[in-house]
Amino acid sequence: MVKTQPGYYRMMIGDFEVTALNDGVVYSSASSSLPNATSKEISDGLSANCLTDRIGMSYNAFLINTGDKLVLIDTGTGGKGANFAVFRGCGHLIANLRAAGYLPEQVDEVYITHTHLDHVGGLTLGEQRTFPNATVRAATSEVDGFLNPDRMAAAPKAKKAGLQALADLFQPYIKAGRFSAFNEDRTLVPGIRALATHGHTPGHTSYVVESGGQTMIVLGDLVHVGAVQLLYPSAHFGSDADPVEAAAQRIRVLQMAADGSFWIAGAHLSFPGIGHLRGNRGHFAWIPAIYTKPLEDENPFTKSKG
Ligand SMILES: [Zn+2]
Repeated sequence: MVKTQPGYYRMMIGDFEVTALNDGVVYSSASSSLPNATSKEISDGLSANCLTDRIGMSYNAFLINTGDKLVLIDTGTGGKGANFAVFRGCGHLIANLRAAGYLPEQVDEVYITHTHLDHVGGLTLGEQRTFPNATVRAATSEVDGFLNPDRMAAAPKAKKAGLQALADLFQPYIKAGRFSAFNEDRTLVPGIRALATHGHTPGHTSYVVESGGQTMIVLGDLVHVGAVQLLYPSAHFGSDADPVEAAAQRIRVLQMAADGSFWIAGAHLSFPGIGHLRGNRGHFAWIPAIYTKPLEDENPFTKSKG
């Protein structure tokens, strides 16, 4: 792939450094991705953002340096699934992590929003752990379907191969004693807590990052097509497991972010996928982060590296 620019973006949330890492961009059709959106909602959303269908969808992960811990939220595709059109052109997360000045070996904690391949594929390189020194954490409700032997045994035959492929991504960490599942909302390291937002998948989890009076909600896949789903948040995404619950969680969290003037960070919002929201329940407007770099004297991580 010809690189047009570095696929990382860095900013501060209080004392934490947040780096958005791009895994790739894939072109898809907004209208076929959003099954219950009316053609008027789709054309309204696209034209409000000066877009036409097809749209480029970003695949982002977020690296947070708390000073004590280096935490990666989601892992990209790891280049897996390139035979699926939706993942073609992905697999650049590790190159962008390195470009941002970090090494996979430095990651202490990996938090999973959900177990779709574009979020967990990067856990392994072959059969090895991509992040050899990290503990991987995910919601029990998300991983139980393929890590619990009884549930695996009871799974329909047609689903078994897919579930086993997911289990294989976690096994190297389990064998090394570096996997831990958590139940619902809890603080994982000081300043980062899980926020259950089930619907897109059974255990879909967002993460709330808080430091120095600032808050960022790392959404995961609460929003896929920002141009349409922020304006019309009840628009379902095609692969939502429970589209009604996914929409309820999308509206709840977007409202929380708008009310609190929190930053949001979206896995599929246009890179870097970071911005603010204005508006209310019916419609939200997106205010993207502007390109800056953290002030040298406010970024202890840059300063310490010289
Ligand atoms: Zn996704």
